[in-house]
Amino acid sequence: MTSRERADVVVVGGAIIGSSVATFLASRPDFDGRIVVVERDPTYRTSSTTLSAASIRLQFSTPLNIEISRFGVELVTHPDRYLAVDGEVPEIDFVENGYLFLATEAGLATLEHNHAVQRKLDVPVTLLTPAELRARFDWLRTDDLAGGSLGLAGEGWFDAHALLQGFRRRARALGVEERAGEVIALERDGDRIAAVGLADGTTIQAGWVVNAAGPRAADVAALAGVDLPVRPRKRFVYHVEAPVSLGAAPLTVDPSGIYLRPEGPAYIAGFSPLGGQPDPDAIDLVVDRAPFDELVWPALAHRIPAFDRLRLLDAWAGLYEVNTLDHNAIIGPHPTLRNLLFANGFSGHGLQQAPAVGRGLAEWIATGAYETLDLAPLGYERVGRSEPIRELNIV
Ligand SMILES: Cc1cc2nc3c(=O)[nH]c(=O)nc-3n(C[C@H](O)[C@H](O)[C@H](O)COP(=O)(O)OP(=O)(O)OC[C@H]3O[C@@H](n4cnc5c(N)ncnc54)[C@H](O)[C@@H]3O)c2cc1C
Repeated sequence: MTSRERADVVVVGGAIIGSSVATFLASRPDFDGRIVVVERDPTYRTSSTTLSAASIRLQFSTPLNIEISRFGVELVTHPDRYLAVDGEVPEIDFVENGYLFLATEAGLATLEHNHAVQRKLDVPVTLLTPAELRARFDWLRTDDLAGGSLGLAGEGWFDAHALLQGFRRRARALGVEERAGEVIALERDGDRIAAVGLADGTTIQAGWVVNAAGPRAADVAALAGVDLPVRPRKRFVYHVEAPVSLGAAPLTVDPSGIYLRPEGPAYIAGFSPLGGQPDPDAIDLVVDRAPFDELVWPALAHRIPAFDRLRLLDAWAGLYEVNTLDHNAIIGPHPTLRNLLFANGFSGHGLQQAPAVGRGLAEWIATGAYETLDLAPLGYERVGRSEPIRELNIV
């Protein structure tokens, strides 16, 4: 069976990015078009959104990334302002314990550089000497550290699933249609996408198409003959029980690249390969426990001596959608296919960027311009010109 229908906006992928775009657009008084969100896994069990570490920080090195996350903080702190439905507000459970970036002598100059950028933008962050670190966090080994950068407010973690459901609920309440299905074709008509084809034979003529397909974004772009430098890369999260409590510890990023944060009474830890280490494309979610024994546990036991007696409770894999050009998001229209909008390549920080990106693309669709934050520097054009934006704080 085949059928043909029409929508003003078709969003490919309904997880945090797709549902944020749909929600912000449907919330606008100047937009009353039909929005259809197509999702191949309506359980969202395989989406990066629900498999993420769900943390948010202001400690970036580029001013735009700081401002993008600042709006994320605004939304997770005040969901009542953006996600209420009939007076009900989702419980996002924001735990505002901060991020702590640690540096050895080799990393100190970067830490200080980032600090200067952040302070210029009034980010509440403080640089700590090893002695100050030790005084604040008595569980931390500091003899090989040169300093640390601690976020004092507006950083922490939250319930990603609750945020996703909050966006979806609000979107549905505003008339957004959710469609279970897989987008398998994008029909081109000259310099625009004319229609979206679904695996079940449905064709939806589209005014706008938003690529919110996460780690599969390059496959979706390829349906329109567009090359997108976004690759699926596996990241493991290890859920561990420790013999001691670190209290209200921040999300701590060790110079080895390994991060750790409290998760209820236990902890989660993970890492991204450092530059030069292998990081192959992968679309499966099979967990490898070897990196825990070989890398994660030794690094944690070194930094937090009491953690030499950890117990691995559980582990899962999720997919980063890595922008191989510069590990930053690609947002906005394709330079020639103007009704194809990207919201891709978040490289590990897409959950916190979803509110600002959704708001920005809604502005673009409704008015043809960004009204609040100018997201144009993150546009696709830099890909064509091979002009990376350097973000120094990638986790
Ligand atoms: C282990 C891990 C830890 C992370 N930690 C953090 C963190 O602490 N903070 C942070 O901000 N970010 C973090 N991230 C990154 C963050 O999770 C992602 O950047 C974000 O969730 C991306 O959202 P998305 O909606 O673009 O992608 P996804 O959540 O992957 O959603 C894409 C959706 O598109 C659907 N889809 C794909 N192709 C099609 C198609 N052809 N047709 C229909 N539907 C399709 C998929 O089924 C999927 O549901 C982490 C990621 C991982 C893996």
